[in-house]
Order: sequence, then structure tokens, then C-alpha cells
Amino acid sequence: MSYDPENIFAKILRAEIPSFKVYEDEDTYCFMDIMPRSDGHCLVIPKTPCRNILDASPAQLAACMATVNKVANACMKAFDADGITLQQYSEAAGGQEVFHLHFHILPRHEGVATRPPGKMGDMDQIKAHAEAIAAALAA
Ligand code: AMP
Repeated sequence: MSYDPENIFAKILRAEIPSFKVYEDEDTYCFMDIMPRSDGHCLVIPKTPCRNILDASPAQLAACMATVNKVANACMKAFDADGITLQQYSEAAGGQEVFHLHFHILPRHEGVATRPPGKMGDMDQIKAHAEAIAAALAA
């Protein structure tokens, strides 16, 4: 399977479509999932192309994990969370829908189930959540 540069996250990286930015550095970008399965659900992607965990380089994975670690801790603060669920799907059979490597960060609260996938969130609330995570990162 080859990388398709027209996938939606590649378009987000090229700013051809909008996203709610949370954080970026030289190698990674973090933005909000627009169909959040928990408050603060965000995605970490490498800035360079790869489909998923199967073709990612050690450098891409290391850069993503460093950002996941930063953002996950910021989410704990921003949402007074009890924990974090980290998800990654590879290829359609593995549940992947967008074929640019991404890690889902879901802030979790004790006893609160995740919401079902595929339901568009409230954009004002998602924007506010992005700002809350960014503020926790800056603190
Ligand atoms: P998956 O490939 O199954 O790991 O999931 C792709 C994720 O991308 C889903 O959680 C979608 O809600 C999310 N998603 C799809 N389009 C966008 C978009 N334009 N901006 C932010 N998140 C998106």
C-alpha cells in the first residue's frame, strides 16, 4: 500500500483544509478530532508522509511519541482527567479510515465511557478544548 498525498491529514498539514491546532514542533502536528469520542480527543501526526504503524520509521514514531507524551500530560491537566486512552489503527482491516499515521489521545474520567465514533462534535466546544490543551502546554 502506498501513501496517498491527497489524504485529509496531508491536506491539513498543507493548510488546504482547516484544523483546530493544539501543538506543533518541527516533526509533528497535533490537532483536534472533529468527531470527538471524549472531551479533548486530539490526534498527533508526523509532518512527513507515512500511512500507519507498518511503514513508519523509528524517527517518525519517536517524534510522535514525544508529542503524545507532552499532549497527554497537558490533557490530564486541562480536563482534570483520570487517565488517557491512546489509540492507533493500521489499514482498513485494523479500523483505519485516514491513511496518514495518527495517534488518538482520549482524556478519560473514571466510569465515563467513550462516545460512539462518527458523530460530528460542536465546533465551538472543540475550539475551546484545543485552547485549553494549548494553555496547559504553555503553563
Ligand atoms: P482512524 O483512521 O480510524 O484512526 O480515524 C480517523 C479519525 O480522523 C476519526 O476519529 C475522525 O473523526 C477524524 N477526522 C476525520 N476527518 C477529520 C478532520 N477533517 N479533522 C479532524 N479529524 C478528522
